Amino acid sequence: MSVDALAARVAGGERVSAAEALELYRSAPTMLLGRLADGVRRRKHPAGIVTYIIDRNVNYTNVCVARCKFCAFYRPVGSSEGYTLGFDEIFAKIDETIRLGGVQLLLQGGHNPDVPLQWYEDLFREVKRRYPTFRLHALSPPEVIHISRLSQLTVPEVIDRLIAAGLDSIPGGGAEILVDRVRKELNCYGKATADEWLDVMRHAHRAGLRTTATMMYGTVETVEERIEHLMRLRALQDETGGFTAFITWSYQPQHTELGGAEATGIEYLRMLALSRIVLDNFDNLQASWVTQGGKVGQMSLAFGANDMGSVMIEENVVRAAGAEYCMDEFEVVRNVENAGLVAKRRNMHYDLLGDPIFRERDVPRTLALATARADGRGGEADDLLGYVARSALGKKRRAGDLDAPSQ
Ligand code: SF4
Repeated sequence: MSVDALAARVAGGERVSAAEALELYRSAPTMLLGRLADGVRRRKHPAGIVTYIIDRNVNYTNVCVARCKFCAFYRPVGSSEGYTLGFDEIFAKIDETIRLGGVQLLLQGGHNPDVPLQWYEDLFREVKRRYPTFRLHALSPPEVIHISRLSQLTVPEVIDRLIAAGLDSIPGGGAEILVDRVRKELNCYGKATADEWLDVMRHAHRAGLRTTATMMYGTVETVEERIEHLMRLRALQDETGGFTAFITWSYQPQHTELGGAEATGIEYLRMLALSRIVLDNFDNLQASWVTQGGKVGQMSLAFGANDMGSVMIEENVVRAAGAEYCMDEFEVVRNVENAGLVAKRRNMHYDLLGDPIFRERDVPRTLALATARADGRGGEADDLLGYVARSALGKKRRAGDLDAPSQ
């Protein structure tokens, strides 16, 4: 089918096949892709509202046994730069987030063998006791699988226990590209195969949780494999309807084992637009300004995005790989309104919470992103000593046979 005929079908609201998506990506001019994606956004969001959430991205530990080749964030067990936050450090971050008008923590971390299920349950229960309306958007599918392996419980059992403790929703991290050939090359097949990642989301949706979905492109995959990823997400969304949003970003290569170069801004905008066209059953697409910068982030609003994601207060993962863009709420809203759209705050379920908070009350501006620990020190918090460790080092340390790394 010609690109013009395909464009007419997309403009008429028809679904595209994998082969048609490939043809559009390969042959459609960038501005045509943008126009088609913008048309889909307008149909789904006719009032021109662009949403964002004020939340904090807390990475509770950087100790990880998975060793993905594209990751610059993790530290191996025993590293002096490895850290695990204490509960009090996390509560202090929540207090600060609430002061800035935030409503949620996005809590993700490495696959740390010394952090058992009980630690998450105790943390979630205490968060809910102290901050009853505060939301926990936590633990991507590979983390859920890691906890299930550590605890020798099934994934549905782990999800049920985490929900009972206070889990509100699951972030879609760790998807990378949902094709096992790619996952094996990136050394992330062991942490979760494509089927396993999708199965965690299926169980979460069945248990009543809403989740997001992501795609990190630009490593070793082909365009066909990116499209296969989108098709697999679309099929699960047809089945469960549990995804609230899709977020794509380009691989950030600095300080990673894999190395290489970052995809360009045009490639990002083309992938975003194609995602909007293919994922016809996803209501919300986020602009990844944290990896692409504010200006490309703003352009995303003309290429299918209807959401600016998180007004981040803290970021640790893509910063480790070289991306360090920062926009506070004032900047996010300025970019949305300058694009002729209407900015509204939302929660993870995309319920509108209101106008920008800085128009309602005085909030401090955050002109730099915080880090997990401002002083950069490693070390695990003392309250982890009360939990069972699984690594040989962790067992020794908790038995008192080894000094803890300094905090
Ligand atoms: S991407 Fe996640 S799972 Fe992979 S090495 Fe980094 S922290 Fe570990």
